[in-house]
Amino acid sequence: MAGKYGDFYPSKWGFPKAVREGNMPSPKQFMPDYLDDPSFYERGWHTENLGDGGNFYWVTGPAGYDAGFVVTGSGVVVIDAPPTLGENLQSAIRSVTDEPVTHLIYSHWHSDHIGSASQFGPDVKIIAHDITRELLTRFPDKYRPVPTETFTTDETLDVGGTRLELSYKGADHCPGNIYIYGPAQKVLTKIDIVSPGSVTFAHADVSENISGFYQAHDDILSYDFKALIGGHISRWGTRQDVEIVREYWHDLLAFSQEALREMSSSEALQGFIVGLGRENQLVGAENWINSIANYVTEKTLTKTTSNGQTWPERLAGATVFTKYHAWTVAETTRTERTHLGYQTEGNGGPFYIA
Ligand SMILES: [Zn+2]
Repeated sequence: MAGKYGDFYPSKWGFPKAVREGNMPSPKQFMPDYLDDPSFYERGWHTENLGDGGNFYWVTGPAGYDAGFVVTGSGVVVIDAPPTLGENLQSAIRSVTDEPVTHLIYSHWHSDHIGSASQFGPDVKIIAHDITRELLTRFPDKYRPVPTETFTTDETLDVGGTRLELSYKGADHCPGNIYIYGPAQKVLTKIDIVSPGSVTFAHADVSENISGFYQAHDDILSYDFKALIGGHISRWGTRQDVEIVREYWHDLLAFSQEALREMSSSEALQGFIVGLGRENQLVGAENWINSIANYVTEKTLTKTTSNGQTWPERLAGATVFTKYHAWTVAETTRTERTHLGYQTEGNGGPFYIA
């Protein structure tokens, strides 16, 4: 079967194959040294101490999933347990301390970030948001035990005198996705919003609430932090990393609003949908949304940004994933944000859709 070992699965109805020659490589500043170190791939983990205080660690693995842990003096508090890191997370912890893992915090309910939680056994305290407990109760998974302690808005976790402030500010990447902040260390964990140095994975990292995804960038910046654990891609981030990707997302939003104004009038829709015949209206619908996404992609990738460079020069993955982000931002600008008006009685325009 084509595609089984990394080759592409082609289909005339599917996506075109991306090629190296057709895309920009990751900017050099995106590539830390350990990515070129064979021992990283043999060992399966890399850890660094972040911020102030010397006890807040970040861990990453070759698959590009990141987690954290805090050594308190009376036990280790682990933040997330990605299955791609799996037990290598424990190896990373043992490389700096003999203390047992006593607490595990779930950033959000997604399996790709907490799907090896069961490795810590039945005695570990698991802290998460109420919604995470609800989701894991509705959709049980032996690898993701149901949290033992949950909260609604704000919670402070004090273990051995080390304080962690947990906060929920509403749905973004998914409902129940929380902020985990060490005020002494000035380290913030907020998963699947900012992937430092990169445009992140397709469709705003497959986020459910794009207005909330945007708001999360501002909420991250409202914290006084020296280091951000974002969950991807084998990098921790600085304040400047967050400001850069925030600018990228706001370019996508502005161009989406522009494209929707241009291509969502009843006249434009007549061309896309009715023009092909009503029996082909879904072909027209695909052309309509993809034309909007193409417009946003083109404008975003060719723009000279605030530092004089283009996005492909500043952020890894820009030529690869911008088209997916453009699609998602355009579509959710249409569904989540205010629009141009509504239909007046007895005609097809002028604000057929917005
Ligand atoms: Zn997620």
